[in-house]
Amino acid sequence: TEFVVPFGTLPHIPDDVTLPQFILDSWHPTRPVNKHGNPVLIEESTGRGVHLSEVRARTFGLANEMKARWNIGEGQVLCIFSSNHVDYPIAVWATHRLGGIVTTANPNYTADELLYQLDLTKASVVFTFSGSIAVAEDACRQAGISADRIAILDSPEGYTGPYPTLETLIQEGLSKHPQFVERRLEPGEGKTKLALLNFSSGTTGRPKAVAIPHYAVLANVIQMAYYGQANENYGTATRYRPGQVVLAVLPFYHIYGLIVVMHFYIFAGFSLVVMPRFTLEGMLNNVQRYRINHLLLVPPMIVLLAKNPIVKKYDLTSVTMCMSGAAPLSAEVTRQFCERLPNSAIGQGYGMTELATTITFPRIDMHIATMGSGGQLLQGNVCRVLKPDGTYATYNEPGELLIKGPTVALCYLNNEQATKETFLYFDGKPDRWVRTGDEVMFNERAEIFVLDRLKEIMKVRGFQVAPAELEGHLLEHPDVGDACVVGVPDEYSGELPLAFIVPSHDAQERIKQDPAETDKIKLALMKHVTDHKVHYKKLAGGVYFVDSIPKNPSGKLLRRFLRDKARELKAQQ
Ligand code: AMP
Repeated sequence: TEFVVPFGTLPHIPDDVTLPQFILDSWHPTRPVNKHGNPVLIEESTGRGVHLSEVRARTFGLANEMKARWNIGEGQVLCIFSSNHVDYPIAVWATHRLGGIVTTANPNYTADELLYQLDLTKASVVFTFSGSIAVAEDACRQAGISADRIAILDSPEGYTGPYPTLETLIQEGLSKHPQFVERRLEPGEGKTKLALLNFSSGTTGRPKAVAIPHYAVLANVIQMAYYGQANENYGTATRYRPGQVVLAVLPFYHIYGLIVVMHFYIFAGFSLVVMPRFTLEGMLNNVQRYRINHLLLVPPMIVLLAKNPIVKKYDLTSVTMCMSGAAPLSAEVTRQFCERLPNSAIGQGYGMTELATTITFPRIDMHIATMGSGGQLLQGNVCRVLKPDGTYATYNEPGELLIKGPTVALCYLNNEQATKETFLYFDGKPDRWVRTGDEVMFNERAEIFVLDRLKEIMKVRGFQVAPAELEGHLLEHPDVGDACVVGVPDEYSGELPLAFIVPSHDAQERIKQDPAETDKIKLALMKHVTDHKVHYKKLAGGVYFVDSIPKNPSGKLLRRFLRDKARELKAQQ
């Protein structure tokens, strides 16, 4: 069986425009008419609104200066290493106007992690945030990016450091004659012209740069917009109404914030209230102050909304829609959320970086989505579910999800092997299918149910954590002979990384002489991770010593076995 949504036909997806041309300059039948004159972006702290005309002008100014100063052009890569900010989309689209490519990085990364991304993407300019300057400097020095190719995105007041702020670049660009010719696309070129390099580990191994063309992103925007329109006969198509307000609290560096919140909601005519970082109180204050209508969240944020007693002190009646994504949301938390915010619809989207981004949306004809469902397929996506015996599943039968559609990414950059394993071709046909590594099933309404993850990655608070990355890092420590990292379930974070370690010969000798060494070594290993990796990768699930790591005859770790063992250990505690 091939699963598709049982209504609607996706309209034409332009393959000859870039993202800024599509979002800022053009008309499309799925684009709601916005007569509201509302700002596109709102800065949460000051309430400053940025209107469409200003977004366009600032994008031009920045592009002009990026060309003049650094000669940014075809295929060059800008890395945005920053928290959310109203100028974030401007940095993305200015790069696209020049024919460049954007890679976004978590501003909490350590220098090692950022360096890995700069090296893999060959970024030549870095926009950082005032809180992350030292890390950016360190990583740029090691990557060979000269200091005059760093700028500060958030333009903090009174900043007197050596780097230009984005505000300065924009003003200088606006004061110059045009220095560049806007990059335009030939018919069909949108399908291969790269827009984004976002990181994902896929089904196995270390994080890789997913090559996402302009067409894939705008196809996803059109799919989301059209899903509302195609359902008009259900009478609830008012869910996406221009002039409404959405909270942009999900980080723009992750594909969910970047494509669903930034690109889709701007296209849909919403105002985005831009939050640089998440705190529960900050979110609640903003909802009340700006009368937020839509919340796009990850499960831990919904857990807090559903359970924390301070939520009751705020007026959240403006919220009409809440979407969860990036990790599973439990039925229990969904129920508790509904009690707290009875006005709000709630449901999940399911997505993946390699599918740029979401392939399902919360059912628009239902106030509360089918419990446990990850949403309904968007038009244009075709899914197969591969059973362990190699045959395809029918309705309500579990198996691994394979999907093709207009949003499928091109490849993993410069990684043929991983590309071959994840992007599949069948029967000599040109369609690229993505192997998701997720165990799912579909019902007759094309609603997905995500049952389990077959691939290695863990999801900690919605963020990917690659076991291979942590294992490689642990193996660099002299006390580690062998290592395997798995996720253990956690109510708030979803999963937490736990390490099974075979102590090195030397460590074993020390433990024999003094058993108190065991705890010292475990603490040292936890610190080894905390010191070099972003906070959510820390071994919060614990460190356990074992005699050996079970492997199959070809040397592959038996992760499933260890994952079950980790769950048993946790259950005993
Ligand atoms: P990322 O590329 O970081 O967005 O991670 C993609 C992975 O997140 C998917 O392959 C799933 O394992 C998981 N995921 C995303 N959305 C959901 C959801 N609604 N329910 C369960 N898992 C999800």
